[in-house]
Amino acid sequence: MKADAAAQQLLLDLQKLDTKAAQLDHRESTLPQKQTLADLKVRIQRLHDEHVAAVVIARDLERDQARAESDVEQVRERSTKDQQLLDSGAISDPKQLVNLQHELQSLARRQGELEDVELEAMERVEGAQAAVRQLAGQHAEAVVEGEAIEAEIAALVLEINAERHNTIADRNELKPRIPADLIALYEKIRIDGGGVGAAHLHRGQCQGCRLQLPPNEIEALRATPEDEVVRCEECRRILVRNAESGL
Ligand SMILES: [Zn+2]
Repeated sequence: MKADAAAQQLLLDLQKLDTKAAQLDHRESTLPQKQTLADLKVRIQRLHDEHVAAVVIARDLERDQARAESDVEQVRERSTKDQQLLDSGAISDPKQLVNLQHELQSLARRQGELEDVELEAMERVEGAQAAVRQLAGQHAEAVVEGEAIEAEIAALVLEINAERHNTIADRNELKPRIPADLIALYEKIRIDGGGVGAAHLHRGQCQGCRLQLPPNEIEALRATPEDEVVRCEECRRILVRNAESGL
C-alpha cells in the first residue's frame, strides 16, 4: 500500500487520540471510588439487616418488660387488698389473721423478686434500644457517605466524558486528512493489536513491540520509498518513519 508520508505521520496523531480514548474508558471503568461504593453498599445492607434484627429484639424485650411490670402490679394490688382487709378489723379470727399476715409477708417477698425481674428486663430493654440507636446512626452515616461517593463518581465521569468528547472531536477533524484505505488498514491492525495499529519507528526501534530492527532491515527501509506503507516484521503494525527514525 502507498500513502503520502505526511498522511502516515497523521496516523500517529490518530493513534494518540485512540489510545487516549481507550485510557479514558479504562479510567472510567476502574475508578477506585466505584469499588469503595460497592463495598459501602454491602456495609449499608448489613447495617440495615442488623438494625431490623435489633428492632425485633428490642420489641421482644419490651414485651418481657411489660409482662414483668404487670406481674409486679398484680402482686401489689393483692397486697393492698390484704392490707386493707387487715386494717379494716373485719377479721377477728386469730388463725385467719395469722394466715393473712403470712400471706402479706410472702407477697412482699414475691414483689421484691418480681421487681428484680422487672429491673433486669428494663436494663435489657435499655441495652437493646441503645443498640437500635447505634445501628440506625451507623446506617444513616454510611448512606450519607455513599451519597458523597456517588456524587464524586458522577463528577469524575462528567470530567472523563468531557475529555472523551474533545478526543472524538479531534479525531473527527483528523480523519478526513488521512486516506480511507490507510485508515481501514490501521483499524484492522488496531483491533488485532491490542488497540495499537500504528507505531513510530524511533531510532531503529518499533515503538509498538519494542523490537530493535536489525541493521539489514534498517538498510532495506532506507531504500524503501517514503510513500510506501511498511509494517513491523514482529508485530505487523504500521511502522511510521520520520526524521527520528534513525534511517
Ligand atoms: Zn513492532
